Amino acid sequence: MTVLHCLFCKNEVIGLTGQEHVLDTVFLQQPEDHEVTDAGIYGYCHKLCLINSKWGSLWAKRWIENYNQTRRFPIIGNSGNVTFLRYDRAKPLNSIIAIADNGSLIDVRDKHLPKKIKLKNGYLIPQIENLNINLSTLPNLAEEINSTLFKGGSYSLKSLIEQMGLSNYLIYPKAIEDGRLTMNREHKKALKQNPSSYRKSVWSKLEYAIFVPQDIMDFTLTYLNK
Ligand SMILES: [Zn+2]
Repeated sequence: MTVLHCLFCKNEVIGLTGQEHVLDTVFLQQPEDHEVTDAGIYGYCHKLCLINSKWGSLWAKRWIENYNQTRRFPIIGNSGNVTFLRYDRAKPLNSIIAIADNGSLIDVRDKHLPKKIKLKNGYLIPQIENLNINLSTLPNLAEEINSTLFKGGSYSLKSLIEQMGLSNYLIYPKAIEDGRLTMNREHKKALKQNPSSYRKSVWSKLEYAIFVPQDIMDFTLTYLNK
């Protein structure tokens, strides 16, 4: 399992949709954007690192152009510095994509809205993902997590992120606070078949949340008449 690094801070990215981005060169316009490719500003990154860099607005502009002009997602509105696009061609995937001009992109699926949890300045939307991470540089941690999960327990995402030294690279720390890793039958089977991975990697199911700021949720709910 490869270890992926943020192109800005060089720390690890672990595959959290709400906290990380993949900057795909397919969105760039060549030759205008040769500056971006020459500077190596593509690949994996933390959302926070992109927003804090000077490149966020360029990527935001290119995402909007691509979604709107190439993929033909209609622009359904603007609010402050956020452009909203709509995807409604296949029901379980229908969503509103909110792109802020600082380089933040949030994809809010219609089907996840009923599960939203209100916070003071926005909402959390519960999310379930597979989390497969290489922990070969932290073998004791890998072993601790694997033995806990294998016995049917859960492990805190916040604690994992702290021990990996990634706490300072979270854009919405609140969204990972109650996150937890568990193993399903397949994960346990895979671990049993690969005992050498006990101290190297963790394959797990991750339950955590994506944070949606108040203004983005307000627009979304008004648009969908909810
Ligand atoms: Zn980073």
